[in-house]
Amino acid sequence: MITKDDAARLKQELEKTQRELKEELKSLAGVPEMGSDVDAFDTETDEAEEFSNKIGVEQTFKERLEDVRRALEKIEKAVYGKCEKCSMEISSEVLNLVPESRYCKHCKM
Ligand SMILES: [Zn+2]
Repeated sequence: MITKDDAARLKQELEKTQRELKEELKSLAGVPEMGSDVDAFDTETDEAEEFSNKIGVEQTFKERLEDVRRALEKIEKAVYGKCEKCSMEISSEVLNLVPESRYCKHCKM
């Protein structure tokens, strides 16, 4: 059960994650050199591999950003914490771990 306090706290977390993801995406879209705080790429890998890694990472960030955006929207509409598939409540353990979760344990399988 997600209380209003939980939702307020998770909202802050989500907003922080949203900012971080946007920063990450910005740095990915920028210069092809290694960003100062991007250590996800191995400098040893050849360019093609590095490129596909970059696309993959970018895709992951974008998907996560979309999940975060949806979660914030659900908080606004006061439907946060409900599974998008079965409408059951997502357990607070799951939400504390991954605040942008869209599905309950069962539907995520
Ligand atoms: Zn479900």
